Amino acid sequence: MNCKICPFCQQPSYSAATFGKWICPHCNEDLTLVKFSPIRNDKDSTLEKQKTRKTNDH
Ligand SMILES: [Zn+2]
Repeated sequence: MNCKICPFCQQPSYSAATFGKWICPHCNEDLTLVKFSPIRNDKDSTLEKQKTRKTNDH
């Protein structure tokens, strides 16, 4: 998963693709030439916890 911060609306945009066109889902601006932003590990571990929680909740 890759992340770019849109310079037009300052919203984070996530995509699994590292090539091809990248359009901001918030303002539809072209982010193809925008540099990738590092994703914080904190967020990842939080997501992982939520996933585990959901799986265990029967
Ligand atoms: Zn945007």
